[in-house]
Amino acid sequence: MKLYNFTELLQVAKQRDFKALGSFNLHCLEMLPAYFKAAEKTNSPLMIQISTGTAKYLGHKLLVDAIRSLAESKNVPTCLHLDHCSDLAAIQIAIEAGFSSVMYDGSHLDIEENIANTRRVIDMARPLNVSVEAELGAIGGSEDGKAVAQEDISFTTVEDAKRFVDATGVDMLAISIGTVHGLYTGKAQIQHQRLAEITEATKIPLVLHGGTGVSDEDMRLAVRSGIDKVNVGTEMNVQWVNQCKQTFEKGKVNDSVRNFLVPANDAVTDVLVEKIQLFR
Ligand SMILES: [Zn+2]
Repeated sequence: MKLYNFTELLQVAKQRDFKALGSFNLHCLEMLPAYFKAAEKTNSPLMIQISTGTAKYLGHKLLVDAIRSLAESKNVPTCLHLDHCSDLAAIQIAIEAGFSSVMYDGSHLDIEENIANTRRVIDMARPLNVSVEAELGAIGGSEDGKAVAQEDISFTTVEDAKRFVDATGVDMLAISIGTVHGLYTGKAQIQHQRLAEITEATKIPLVLHGGTGVSDEDMRLAVRSGIDKVNVGTEMNVQWVNQCKQTFEKGKVNDSVRNFLVPANDAVTDVLVEKIQLFR
């Protein structure tokens, strides 16, 4: 089975009565079966996203081969997406390796430069039917070692979003509307009015980053008013580590390591199922 790009996968999701796609960060290969189990349990298509750190750790080929093979054997329509990347050469490598979707993050640049680089990525991606996400405005918090301080958060304006989408033809756009990367203790406040206006002005799928820190009710509202992709990264990591801490503590050194990892994966499946259900 081929991997789906975002646009194709969103169509499958809508046919199956989902309002949006969750895009879930994979933190290590051991976690991977949990993602397919969650997709099977919910009859949902699956979008897995890979940070540049994870791509470097596991290698692109292993990721593409493992995910393609599971997608085929489990019969789950799947998209493999490169998360936040501001290095054009690294994006090219992921596209050539078989990723079906990529994110170019030029949100730290001025808008003209962001537009120019996004167009370059689109030129690389289109011939291979790979979808492209870009980002406009600065989302707070930290992800994959890069941090944006509270005072540097800038919300995406309607005018900039329209100009950016018209100038690039990008497939989906991540916007800064109040969520924070990696937030786990507090709750984010989504700016729903801003979201509705950007949706109206751009008419393309919008992406919400920092999905872990969003309340269930806020999430349901956001997917009703234009969010088509919700990034969730931290939550699976937290569940996995939490469960491992408990089971490793109780285990013996000659227990099979599987005894520790299976409960951790079950915890990840549970949280994925819960998130996916929110998008119905
Ligand atoms: Zn992000």
